[in-house]
This record gives sequence, C-alpha cells and structure tokens, in this order.
Amino acid sequence: MTMNSSTCLAELVGVTKIFSRSGSETTALNNVSFRVEKGEMVLLLGPSGSGKTTLLTLLAGFQEPTSGEAYIFGRRVQEYSSAALQELRARHMGFIFQNFCLIESLRVLDNVMMVMQFAGHGRKAARDKAYEYLDRFGVKHLAHAFPHTLSQGEKQRVAVARAIVNGAELVIADEPTGSLATSQGMMIVEFLHESIVKDVISVVIASHDERIASYAHRALHLRDGMLL
Ligand code: ADP
Ligand code: MG
Repeated sequence: MTMNSSTCLAELVGVTKIFSRSGSETTALNNVSFRVEKGEMVLLLGPSGSGKTTLLTLLAGFQEPTSGEAYIFGRRVQEYSSAALQELRARHMGFIFQNFCLIESLRVLDNVMMVMQFAGHGRKAARDKAYEYLDRFGVKHLAHAFPHTLSQGEKQRVAVARAIVNGAELVIADEPTGSLATSQGMMIVEFLHESIVKDVISVVIASHDERIASYAHRALHLRDGMLL
C-alpha cells in the first residue's frame, strides 16, 4: 500500500453520522471537522453518549459518514475496498480498548504476535518483534502468561505493545483509562506519549478523564455530537 506524504493521517470534513434504531434516529455526530497530524496526541473529551466512539470508528474506517467526508491516509474512505481498509488497519493502525480486550485464551506473546501476523509477517519475525516490544514495556517475563493472571498495569503494557508492534502510524484508544484507578490509569498515556516521541506515531484518545489533558497536544470537547 502506498502512503501519501501528507502530514495528515486522518481527517473528517463536515461529518454527520445518523443512526437509525427501531424507528428512531440518533445524530451521533453533527457536522464535525477534525484532523490528526503526524506526531501529535489528540484528546477527545466528552461525556458518555457524546459521540467519541463514533468519531473513532469513522477515523478507522469501520463506518462511513452519513454526510460529509472522511479521509484516511489521504484518500476518501469510500475509495478503499473493505480488504484494503483491513490491510490498512493491520499495517498502519493500532487499537486500544477500554478493558484492553486481550484475548483470554491466548498467551501474552500470542496476543502480540497475532497483530504482526495479521499484518502479513511470518512467525519468526512476528515472534521477534513481539518479544522486543514486550521487553520495551517491561513485560517480556510475562510472555507465556495468560491475560487473566496479569495486573491491570501489566495488561496496559501489553495493550500498548500490541497496539504499536506493527509499526502503527496512527493509534486509536477508546477510553483506555476508563476502568483504572488514578495513578495506574495514567501509565498507559505516558507509554503512548513516549511512543509519539520515539516512533513518531499519532494518537487519538477518547476519554472522559480530564487528567489526560496534560499529555495531549490538543484537547477537543464533544457534546451531543458537536465539537465545541
Ligand atoms: P460515546 O463513545 O461518547 O459514549 P457513542 O459514539 O458511543 O458515544 O454514541 C453516540 C450516540 O450514538 C449515542 O446516543 C449512542 O446511543 C448512539 N449510537 C452509537 N452507535 C450506535 C449504533 N450502532 N446504532 C444506534 N445508535 C448508536
Ligand atoms: Mg464510547
């Protein structure tokens, strides 16, 4: 996949997203314009139901706007086939979810290797990279453990390793501190912040946690689907 040289990784222009559910319509996003530049951490703040997750799914191409335009790596989302979008996500994006969504039936190593294999790397390369990234975040010794035996802090480290092991340029994190106690919750943001500097990635974090703001280059506020 060829990437264009623009510094803009993803952009929404005048995007509205309306969901229809059993006869009633919800406007999850209302005329939102938003862009993510290379090497920045953008924080999306807003209460539950304000449209944060919807915005993230549009940036990752999981959904298309009802109106307006979404651009991912310089092209309109509709111009990609679903296979191309999958490949783009596998090779160029990383994801972190609220409860980390580690696969409980797989050991830590396999959780991280899997992402490399989705991106088309062979077993050997996937294993080497997985160990390298687990080591970087101080959890190499847990490679053969199952996720349920890890502390929340250890799971965060694995989740960050998994999100960026494929060389992701854009990391999307949906309420990564959501279920964590005060001091632990911020660690994941610190790791991501380090990676922005070291690997020149871009990070978009959705949260209702104002404490993250001190790490972010920009903080945007969503209210009822509108950017304030
Ligand atoms: P947040 O992540 O900020 O909590 P969401 O983006 O999940 O907000 O949701 C915004 C609004 O859109 C909510 O009212 C939610 O119920 C609605 N919504 C989100 N996804 C769907 C869907 N697939 N079908 C119907 N309504 C949805
Ligand atoms: Mg959400």
